[in-house]
Amino acid sequence: MRVEVVRSARRHKTVQAREVGGVLRVSIPAGMTVADEERWVAEMVRRMERRVASHTIDLAARADVLAQRYRLPRPVAIRWVHNQECRWGSCTPSDGTIRISSRLVGEPAWVLDYVIVHELAHLSAPHHDRRFWALVGRYPRAERARGYLMARGLDPDRDAADHPDHPEQPDHPEQPDPPDQPDPADQVG
Ligand SMILES: [Zn+2]
Repeated sequence: MRVEVVRSARRHKTVQAREVGGVLRVSIPAGMTVADEERWVAEMVRRMERRVASHTIDLAARADVLAQRYRLPRPVAIRWVHNQECRWGSCTPSDGTIRISSRLVGEPAWVLDYVIVHELAHLSAPHHDRRFWALVGRYPRAERARGYLMARGLDPDRDAADHPDHPEQPDHPEQPDPPDQPDPADQVG
């Protein structure tokens, strides 16, 4: 993908990227160092590639198969999200929706399946309690997948359980990034 970098005096600490006619236009603050520019351009290209690759995986179909196989609830809706860099999934049990981070695109299928199973289990057990882990344990590679996620720097337990009291804000998209981080401007609705 072609990349065009735009330095903007109006921009202070945020980085934005959008695709315009097949070109990834990355807007950065005017005063950003060349090293930071390279780092952010590489990061934005990575995110865009993940987003494109996510279209090749049918999450709803996978969730249906897994729900049937492990006798778990089926979600009302399940979709990719592209702005969750720290958590790999989230679930809103009250409306039956699940979101999966596109960070998982490119990870092994059995790891993605574990994350889906984990969120499906939350549909009937919102908290990380015994009942929840009994449901997750129906997936044979659950423990291995948790170890894998940990090794990849993704806390395997950092998901919906972070905010069981705030199910109305499942994605936390409202939270601004730390000052030295770019805006999650590549998020989709
Ligand atoms: Zn969880």
